[in-house]
Amino acid sequence: MNAERIDLYGLTREELRLQCVRWGLAPVHAAKVWSHLYLDLAADLSPAAMPKLPERVRACIAAAAAPGVLATAARTDSADGWTRKFLLGLTDGGAVETVLMRYPGRVTACVSSQAGCAMGCVFCATGQMGFRRHLTAGEIVAQAVHVARMARAEPGEGGDRLRNIVLMGMGEPLHNYEAVMRAVEILLDPAGLALAADHITLSTVGVAPAILRLAREPRPPHLAVSLHAATQEERAALVPAAKRWPLEELMAACAAYSAATGRRILYEWTLIAGRNDSPDHARAVGRLLQGLPAQVNLIPLNPTEGYGGAPAELGAARAFQRVLAEEFSLPCTIRQRRGIDIAAGCGQLAQTD
Ligand code: SAH
Ligand code: SF4
Repeated sequence: MNAERIDLYGLTREELRLQCVRWGLAPVHAAKVWSHLYLDLAADLSPAAMPKLPERVRACIAAAAAPGVLATAARTDSADGWTRKFLLGLTDGGAVETVLMRYPGRVTACVSSQAGCAMGCVFCATGQMGFRRHLTAGEIVAQAVHVARMARAEPGEGGDRLRNIVLMGMGEPLHNYEAVMRAVEILLDPAGLALAADHITLSTVGVAPAILRLAREPRPPHLAVSLHAATQEERAALVPAAKRWPLEELMAACAAYSAATGRRILYEWTLIAGRNDSPDHARAVGRLLQGLPAQVNLIPLNPTEGYGGAPAELGAARAFQRVLAEEFSLPCTIRQRRGIDIAAGCGQLAQTD
């Protein structure tokens, strides 16, 4: 890709308007380009595919804009039809995974923020592949647009409109803060994909200083924090990033986020049989979260090649949930396992090349 070229998906509506002014086009043309991107959900940005746009506009885009739309390099549908995993080709030859998940009443996109991840969590396939690079805001937005387009083209359970986004794909979103927040701003635009701020959830391994920064954003997304252990020692053995941002610092940042935003945080807990799935572990997390606006989400471990641990039994997950509810009045859900047969579940996203 020519580095000078502009990725239209990386521009806010106002920036697109200014860009069109720079190209000598009228504001009405900027509005048309925007609606081509976000209302028509155009699958092709080549001039021939934009018959509604005047010749002059098409010429500017052809000359100066990057291809933008991510090409589908591979697609896998889960046997139950609820989950679709897309391997989307990036313009530099890399690829990134994006997942469409249908639930009763909603369609959710699970979007990647990086190619690979630098955080190295022991049970995560993305962590095990290492860090390749940050994604740009345009590449993050284009994944959501891709899922929105597919939801519209193949309507089914949950409807034909993308309503929820979880930044829980490949990568650590708070390690790529600027691009992720720019993408969130574009996704929230009421004249575009028009997502609601409380329908976007950002999941972090626990980058404490970035959580404090997020708390100061005018429209922060919902926050999910990957906890997995309630003591510094146990956590550091699963999540190497805990050595850099220790549990105490992380919990202080979480408390500050909830105080500043009035929002409850979703604490994720990957349940590994015999490792962190006993009632005593549940009590430890109950004590840790006491007094905080919190909800716990249990994720039975999904199999990955590099990690030998086994998923907790459903009975253990239910017992864990009961302890939190009965002894601590903490709401706790067990995540529905989705797309495991196509390796689209949490922590299974990896690119092998
Ligand atoms: N980097 C971010 C978001 C991506 S991972 C984060 O770590 O939060 C999304 C969730 O999947 C995280 O809670 C992560 O801990 C969890 N996860 C990773 N590998 C998993 C696996 N093999 N089984 C179940 N959950 C896993
Ligand atoms: Fe990165 Fe999240 Fe995987 Fe950890 S769990 S390696 S932070 S993607």
